[in-house]
Amino acid sequence: MVNCFYNDLCHITGSDNALKDEEMKYHTTFCVGGKADFYVKPHSIEEIQQIIKLCKEYGKEYFIIGKGSNLLVSDSGYRGVIIQMYHNFCDVHIKDNILVSRAGALMSKLAQSACEGSLAGLEFSYGIPGTVGGAVTMNAGAYGGEMKHIVEYVTVMDPKGNVKNLNNEELRFGYRKSIIKQSSFIILEVGLKLTKGNRQEIRDKMEDYAARRKEKQPLEFPSAGSAFKRPEGMYAGKLIMDAGLKGYAVGGARVSDKHCGFIINYDNATAAHVMLLVKDIQAKVKEKFGVNLEMEIQKLGEFSETE
Ligand SMILES: Cc1cc2nc3c(=O)[nH]c(=O)nc-3n(C[C@H](O)[C@H](O)[C@H](O)COP(=O)(O)OP(=O)(O)OC[C@H]3O[C@@H](n4cnc5c(N)ncnc54)[C@H](O)[C@@H]3O)c2cc1C
Repeated sequence: MVNCFYNDLCHITGSDNALKDEEMKYHTTFCVGGKADFYVKPHSIEEIQQIIKLCKEYGKEYFIIGKGSNLLVSDSGYRGVIIQMYHNFCDVHIKDNILVSRAGALMSKLAQSACEGSLAGLEFSYGIPGTVGGAVTMNAGAYGGEMKHIVEYVTVMDPKGNVKNLNNEELRFGYRKSIIKQSSFIILEVGLKLTKGNRQEIRDKMEDYAARRKEKQPLEFPSAGSAFKRPEGMYAGKLIMDAGLKGYAVGGARVSDKHCGFIINYDNATAAHVMLLVKDIQAKVKEKFGVNLEMEIQKLGEFSETE
């Protein structure tokens, strides 16, 4: 059964793009996570349609990832098929003032393409280490910019394999969320509406943001970005610092000294270490300030009660 399924997957994408028992620590920026039963990198809409049809036939779960920069995968991995959009599904082109991109293109590549085409509006995203599919799903934002301000349309596939376009309003963007997750849509293509600008000014802005990230964020360690959502009117990092948790560690997972809002993989952290640290932080911040910190990082796979 397992081999039949795997052979069928290989038939769809080619065996170089379909793997068995793949360690997810190699596919997440946290560098944490056990094995996924199957891991596949599609090249086309037709391949994605065939993969989800196959999963349905065999009763297998699937999960879409971009660059894995907002994910914590369990130490026991994932019992299903990881469909990774990054790698093979990445074409970008500009049509008038619309930047059209397949879901797997990296935000840094998009920002650079926009800059080369003298289009402004994407500078804020330079340095967000994910794909445009992940950025729309999460309504990623930084330095006052957010995906919801620039998305013109998104082409999605529904769980039945039907393809349709959604406009900005239909995406129901909120703080670090959109309709994509709750509707189990797969983002295929994104159209971003940008404005004509001065190439040098755009480049200067991007470089300024990149420098600020380098100065303030622990980019030298693996992480999944901000670990917690920003509580209304406050900063999670400041609350964590004021709770005395700067540098606090559980196993190999640690609160960054540079930016307390980041949990870093300091020394071979496991997902269990990360989750124990998360629980400690949440308990301490709640005790000191009465604030509930909600995780921004998404969990994938099985986690025990204590995690
Ligand atoms: C150093 C660092 C800095 C960061 N800075 C920021 C920041 O400034 N602002 C910010 O908002 N985030 C930031 N992040 C978090 C992260 O980069 C963003 O959330 C990013 O948008 C996630 O993109 P991804 O491709 O890695 O998505 P993944 O982590 O792979 O997936 C995230 C979610 O999106 C879904 N998804 C991904 N692609 C698709 C698709 N094609 N169709 C349907 N669902 C999909 C996944 O199922 C999952 O639910 C940072 C992370 C790091 C490590």
